[in-house]
Amino acid sequence: MRELLHSVALRAARYLEDIQERRVSPTAEAVRDVEKFHEPLPEGRMAAADVIRMLDEVGSPATMGVAGRRFFGFVMGGSLPAALGANWLASAWDQNAGLFAAAPISATLEEVSLRWLLDALALPAGCGGAFVTGATVANFTALAAARRAVLGRVGWDVEAQGLFGAPAIQVVVSEEAHPSVIKSLGMLGMGRERVVRVPVDGQGRMLAGALPELNGPSIVCVQVGNVNTGSCDPVAEICGRAHEGGAWVHVDGAFGLWAAASPRHAHLVAGVAGADSWATDAHKWLNVPYDSGLAFVRDADHLRGAMSLTAAYLPQGEHREPSQYVPELSRRARGVDTWAALKSLGRSGLSELIDRNCRCARRFADGLAGAGFEILNDVVLNQVLVSFGSPEATGCVIAGIQEDGTCWCGPTLWQGRVAMRISVSCWATTEADVDRSLEAMLRIARGAAAQAR
Ligand SMILES: *Cc1c(COP(=O)(O)O)cnc(C)c1O
Repeated sequence: MRELLHSVALRAARYLEDIQERRVSPTAEAVRDVEKFHEPLPEGRMAAADVIRMLDEVGSPATMGVAGRRFFGFVMGGSLPAALGANWLASAWDQNAGLFAAAPISATLEEVSLRWLLDALALPAGCGGAFVTGATVANFTALAAARRAVLGRVGWDVEAQGLFGAPAIQVVVSEEAHPSVIKSLGMLGMGRERVVRVPVDGQGRMLAGALPELNGPSIVCVQVGNVNTGSCDPVAEICGRAHEGGAWVHVDGAFGLWAAASPRHAHLVAGVAGADSWATDAHKWLNVPYDSGLAFVRDADHLRGAMSLTAAYLPQGEHREPSQYVPELSRRARGVDTWAALKSLGRSGLSELIDRNCRCARRFADGLAGAGFEILNDVVLNQVLVSFGSPEATGCVIAGIQEDGTCWCGPTLWQGRVAMRISVSCWATTEADVDRSLEAMLRIARGAAAQAR
């Protein structure tokens, strides 16, 4: 075992070094080579060292360089050294993190991380928290608590009776709600299509003045951190109106909620602590390994009531039982990586990480605008949308950038316009990485323009 784990550590370290210099996306040849894995079930054994060798020699080259410094696709962070190391050690521990008795250290670190997270994100100290796979399941978990609460207020116990014959719940989202919110509503029996959709402004922010009148059981879903523009809904104003009507306000802040951890950017999410529940991702801006999402609910009883395993209001034992707050029973010890990330960064390191990424996004926008290309969004956070001209021209430049391999960015459609999306979400990205990526982007964009003439 010792020899094997040593060799894995060496391979992983070499991978993380190589990834800084190799092309960001895998070569076509490397992706073709994954065919080697498509073999019949082996009849006999293979030594563990040989299994790992195959995985590294064939698998590593076929990875996307998300762990490097110049991957700007989607919204995906890398892994902080302490978080990656903690994740390895926690894998060696192989704890079932569902129960305190079975995993005292995992349950403890989850409890500590929850307290630290609420502090760092300036959310109410008494919130209940769930350590789940990602923001999709965090949205699902928080909205289950919301469903329980708003129906409970009109005397309906949804956990016991289900939705058959239940009073209707009015669900409000913006036109720009993330598809994972819509999917969660569907999974919860609240329907993907019977939501009221509130229009947005040019940055994708919900128009608070266009909120429908709310009465009876109702849930308003707001967003901080639009996946395209990084913009945030005016949460304070929406909370005010929604709470007047007795509605529950849920915040999808998969990456944007982390702005609350930076004094320089917290104004973007002003008033967010006034909501009733929140979903975010630790695997995005906290830079812990996949998968790691978080749900917070102001009234922990609603979360526990929706997720408890045996009965609503199960008597709490001496310890916080992780499984009473999440959809799963058995699961990995996500609190360990989260604790390590927060322990290694501290409050100042976390806000510096957010600020550095935002500064890099600004640098991208300035460099591209300076070269004459149009930036389609107000660059307030870590997201940049750039057009290189016509939809065809933009598509061509994106393909060129992906092929070139210096960095990686993907396409998007923003309010009818084709754009390239740049998301700076990795702790390791420096200004030098931005400059090197900008040089490649501009070289490719100018080359494409010359070719088109
Ligand atoms: C990424 C994202 C999600 C989904 O998160 P997963 O971790 O992929 O489940 C939801 N909402 C927003 C705003 C996001 O950016």
